Amino acid sequence: MRCSVLGAGVSGLTCAVKLLESGHEVEIVSDKFSPETVSDVAAAVWYPFLTAPAERAGEWGKVTYQELERLAMDSPESGVTIRDGREYLREVVELPSWKDDISHFRVLEASEIPDGFVFGWEFRSPIIEMPKYMPWLRGKVESGGGSFRQMFVNDMSEVEGELIVNCVGLGARELCNDEEVRPVRGQVIFVKQDPGLGHYDQQPESLTYTIPRSDVTVLGGTAQVGDWGLEIRDEDNELILRKVEAIWPDLDRSKIVGGTVGLRPFRSEVRLEEEEIGGIRVIHNYGHGGAGVTLSWGCADEVVSIVGGGKES
Ligand SMILES: Cc1cc2nc3c(=O)[nH]c(=O)nc-3n(C[C@H](O)[C@H](O)[C@H](O)COP(=O)(O)OP(=O)(O)OC[C@H]3O[C@@H](n4cnc5c(N)ncnc54)[C@H](O)[C@@H]3O)c2cc1C
Repeated sequence: MRCSVLGAGVSGLTCAVKLLESGHEVEIVSDKFSPETVSDVAAAVWYPFLTAPAERAGEWGKVTYQELERLAMDSPESGVTIRDGREYLREVVELPSWKDDISHFRVLEASEIPDGFVFGWEFRSPIIEMPKYMPWLRGKVESGGGSFRQMFVNDMSEVEGELIVNCVGLGARELCNDEEVRPVRGQVIFVKQDPGLGHYDQQPESLTYTIPRSDVTVLGGTAQVGDWGLEIRDEDNELILRKVEAIWPDLDRSKIVGGTVGLRPFRSEVRLEEEEIGGIRVIHNYGHGGAGVTLSWGCADEVVSIVGGGKES
């Protein structure tokens, strides 16, 4: 089938790779490409954060974990590595539903929990270095025979092909008149210091993380709902550093080398479903909030199975 994939973030590129592998023809149509997408800003650790619906997201996350783990082993040039991290909580909560889907999970001893926290767990997780991963994904699309077209789409009728896969993220506010999609602003800091283990407090109201990549450690974060501001704010940097120091007291502020901002495409639930628009089949795949990388391969698999008609179906 001739498929047009709208959007060149992690969702669009991953769908394109899977569609090509299933024998479809693919053109990616997007107004912006890496390194100018939200996906390029992702920190990025596999961790189901700010996403729903729970059951489907659980399955998408599980599939993605397995694929990222495989990439870390077989394709290190993809920029995926595996690290242990520790999540700290201010109250005792139920263990996450995904704990049995990952290769290592254990509850922390009291002596391993920093002051101010009462509970926590250690988990093994893929770290995805987006500056390497996005070009690697694009390379997979190119070597699979996919093509790219730069174009801002105002209306689905402007797009060629038998079928459209819609991965425009926050762009769905305009393209689909979907006001459910809102920005959740995230600011991060880069530091040339390795914390060894990743340290996390992933509650939306206190969101704090230290994500160790090979070039820098990404410190975060903020989750400001409805905030469209793309400028780096000093007060947010100060807040992030204070929160990080509470879970990683060894942080050396003199090793800070930069930072950036991105707008997560948040929706109360990811929209992954088929709709017919003007006689064309459109499969929506947007609204992944803070977990677009975490859910990417599982969502792409579901898109391909909805498309059907490939060599595997
Ligand atoms: C600071 C920060 C940290 C994050 N950390 C993590 C993390 O650790 N783990 C994780 O899983 N996720 C993380 N995320 C979330 C993740 O970045 C997003 O969920 C993900 O990038 C969404 O990908 P996407 O491809 O759906 O959207 P995008 O990357 O936004 O891509 C959308 C694409 O659609 C194109 N487009 C939009 N409208 C149109 C139009 N009308 N016509 C043509 N093209 C259009 C855009 O140009 C772009 O190419 C983080 C986000 C931020 C901001």
